[in-house]
Amino acid sequence: MNSRRDFLQKAGISTLAISLPFSEALSAIHLEREDKVLRVAIMGLGSYGTRVAEAMKDCKRAKLVGVISGTPSKIEAWQQKYGIPAKNCYNYENYHLIKDNPDIDAVYVITPNSLHKPHSIGVAKAGKHVICEKPMALNAEEGREMIAACKAAGVHLLVGYRMHFEAKTLEVVKMQRAGEFGKTLFFQGLSGFMIGDPTQWRLNRDLAGGGSMMDIGVYSINGARYMLGEEPIWVTAQEVKTDPVKFKQGVDETITFQMGFPSGAVASCLSTYSMNNLDKFFLNGTKGFAEMQPSTGYGPIQAKTNKGPIEADHVTHQTTQMDEMAAIILDGKKPIIPVDGEEGLKDLVIVDAIYEAVRTGARISLI
Ligand code: NDP
Repeated sequence: MNSRRDFLQKAGISTLAISLPFSEALSAIHLEREDKVLRVAIMGLGSYGTRVAEAMKDCKRAKLVGVISGTPSKIEAWQQKYGIPAKNCYNYENYHLIKDNPDIDAVYVITPNSLHKPHSIGVAKAGKHVICEKPMALNAEEGREMIAACKAAGVHLLVGYRMHFEAKTLEVVKMQRAGEFGKTLFFQGLSGFMIGDPTQWRLNRDLAGGGSMMDIGVYSINGARYMLGEEPIWVTAQEVKTDPVKFKQGVDETITFQMGFPSGAVASCLSTYSMNNLDKFFLNGTKGFAEMQPSTGYGPIQAKTNKGPIEADHVTHQTTQMDEMAAIILDGKKPIIPVDGEEGLKDLVIVDAIYEAVRTGARISLI
């Protein structure tokens, strides 16, 4: 058999593709190859890890193939549920061995906040791409270390900003960038939920790195930046604590914060662990507004503008996120709103400034 046809058939290409010009046939081969699916191991099989695993069942470009966990019973249950082979199962002591596993491309770190840095750096050193949950780290200094480690290892560092791929969010962002609201001058971000079990890691400063701000408040910080399309130049913040027993020293219950932007726009935000159903973004400009409520929950997201409601089908956020992240890592696709380590770092710089503003009462400059 002639060598081109032989090559195409060995590569598993369809008869249809054989009739294509050679360059197009090659890209068709690419689409059929197993390595065009991002093979992911999840580290930390908790509540959000489980949500991601379920959502990945519907992914086209990403596949759950491995786990890293400190709980043997969970590993066993996940192996059965998701058909994960024993050779792709690790714990926190031996996951460096993942470097010798050619069947895993990336690790999604979904452990408590203070473990994001050591776990992400461990994954990078094992030569695998890192997807890390928000907040990327406890502070900007840690974030910079993670970026440096991933750069040194030549791997991607992506942050689990699922809203950056959500259809209604992207439509509002598109309208804002097109000037449809005029000059945008005000953003309001309200992010909160009532936290339960007082013994959970989210209320432990060593594991959480703070309180509501580290967990839910980062949505308002991040949202202000992508809704306004600019970076803040100053921050002020105030803390309110109604339950000092539940919310110990260093664990914030409620913080209100304000950010100023180079254009003159201001953001006014609230982060809390003491109010349920608080999930709202509001943007106003010289010509009109956008309102999203819920704005960052698991959806469906609701959005309207002065021109009327925004319609888009609801797709499970984590399904879209993982498919899009696969395209970023495998194809070099550029997302509309970045999800890389530098994006995570921008939020952490603001988190640091908010905590400093709470401590000092001062207006903190970011320039
Ligand atoms: P969970 O407590 O439900 O799960 C965390 C898992 O991490 C545990 O089940 C455990 O898994 C592992 N782990 C390793 N070390 C520890 C430790 N010392 N203490 C507790 N758990 C440990 O938390 P979530 O899944 O809710 O949150 C995990 C991360 O995901 C957080 O950073 C959070 O901010 C983020 N998140 C993001 C969301 C989003 O929408 N993007 C939503 C919810 C959370 P194992 O037993 O397998 O080792």
